[in-house]
Amino acid sequence: MKLIADLHIHLAGTAPCAQIAGQIAEQAAQRGLILAALTDHLPKTSNIHCAWSPADQAVLPETQNGVRFLCGAEADISACGALIAPPQALAGAQLVVAAMHPYCVAPGSRLAHTEAFEAALKSSYTDILAHPMDAPYPFDEERIVALAARLGKPLELNALSERSDLQCRQAQQRLAQLAAQYGAPLVVSSDAQRPEQVGDFGAIPYWLDDLGIAQTLVVNAGASQLAAFLARVRARKREAGIWN
Ligand SMILES: [Zn+2]
Repeated sequence: MKLIADLHIHLAGTAPCAQIAGQIAEQAAQRGLILAALTDHLPKTSNIHCAWSPADQAVLPETQNGVRFLCGAEADISACGALIAPPQALAGAQLVVAAMHPYCVAPGSRLAHTEAFEAALKSSYTDILAHPMDAPYPFDEERIVALAARLGKPLELNALSERSDLQCRQAQQRLAQLAAQYGAPLVVSSDAQRPEQVGDFGAIPYWLDDLGIAQTLVVNAGASQLAAFLARVRARKREAGIWN
């Protein structure tokens, strides 16, 4: 499966903005991508990364080397499913990936994780549920996949999760098969922490093909479904009054 966009990239603060943008655009273009979403962690949620500041965003080109940039963000999901970020920062992001992280939420019960994912998916701010198959947070997969299908919000298959934990591949494969069964959209992301990881989706595109997952189910596997997904994001946020 050929992927044309990377919708989960962390690089803010590693170099001046224009330099990072150049590195991302070069890497993305080499890998045949047409779009790269910068989704660094929002302020006050993590000491690992910082988000792009409005000043950074102002110098970020719309397109470079034929690669379009989206200025997004990654938001932490709290134990009760709220997104831990200032609403104005969430509203300012063109794409929000939401995820649970051990530095933020201690693992609880399967039911608690399920309810938290459910609430986060239902948030008008959330566009993608990021790395849900990370080990610390088991949940009722059918319930979340069914909800994602109903809301049309993609569940992420994360290359970094798979690189750090081989067992995660099995879990992500199970998620992909359930998504196919329920018609829930998927997205494959690098979660790049370095420029050279942009557009590196590891083995995921290959095993998606092996499993017979339809390319049309993966929002970043075709220009038409990518455009349709981004249009849905804009329309939903405009309707909720949270599109800047
Ligand atoms: Zn994350």
